Amino acid sequence: MGALTGKTALVTGASRGIGRAIAERLAADGALVAVHYGSNDRAAQQTVAAIREAGGQAFAVRAELGVDGDVDTLFAGLEAGLDGRPLDILVNNAAIQAYDATVEKATREDFDRVFAVNVRAPLFVIQRALPLMPDGGRIINISSGVTWFATPEVVYSMTKGAINVLSRSLAHTLGARGITVNTVSPGITETDMNAWLNEGESARRVADMTALGRHGQPADIADAVAFFASADGRWVTGQTLEVNGGLFLG
Ligand code: NDP
Repeated sequence: MGALTGKTALVTGASRGIGRAIAERLAADGALVAVHYGSNDRAAQQTVAAIREAGGQAFAVRAELGVDGDVDTLFAGLEAGLDGRPLDILVNNAAIQAYDATVEKATREDFDRVFAVNVRAPLFVIQRALPLMPDGGRIINISSGVTWFATPEVVYSMTKGAINVLSRSLAHTLGARGITVNTVSPGITETDMNAWLNEGESARRVADMTALGRHGQPADIADAVAFFASADGRWVTGQTLEVNGGLFLG
């Protein structure tokens, strides 16, 4: 029996990258996983198929976040898939980067879009999830190391700062229900968001910034999420765990 046998989980942005690895790990631990995604049907179906081939349970839920009606669409699909079961674990992982949204170039439209996907959606997904979540549930939000190291793409970084605040505040508010709320903060991780990591010299430089001398892999992040989702994480709430191989230690 796995650590999450009998539990259910929603992972947003689970068709690719870190979210896919989280979905696969939670399913391997025994959870029925809702694999949420925005538009890439093929990638979502591949994630669901990989989970099922490994003996796990999953279903896909398509809903573009950051647009009107996003949470309604997501929860219609989620609740159909859960078929009356509660939601034990929520992982807010979906987000977009905006490399051009620097202080010099960012537009109001960039700002609104990145905040709508990365901040507004997680807040209202949590709001809608709470009535489905039993006492003792788990919320894990995916942030980023850019909350403590400086990068030019300031709008994206600001959204992740908001996620850290959201997690800490909610940990306090939801503690009375035994719901833990934690943040997992990846370092630089090989996904589609970081396609530039395949480009020779810059890739080597990034690996050299970590104590462990390599890029993060999605599974490195998923394993940390699995701890917070499990019974082993029951006494940890309101925390941010930096999962980055020792980035910028000195
Ligand atoms: P990817 O770009 O590889 O995958 C993004 C996922 O989110 C996909 O499943 C995508 O769905 C979904 N998604 C994106 N936008 C929307 C939207 N508007 N509505 C619904 N779904 C959407 O991202 P990563 O795996 O790299 O990142 C995952 C998380 O980790 C994010 O929160 C990111 O900020 C954070 N992070 C990543 C780092 C990295 O180095 N990769 C470093 C630090 C933090 P679809 O396939 O349908 O497009």
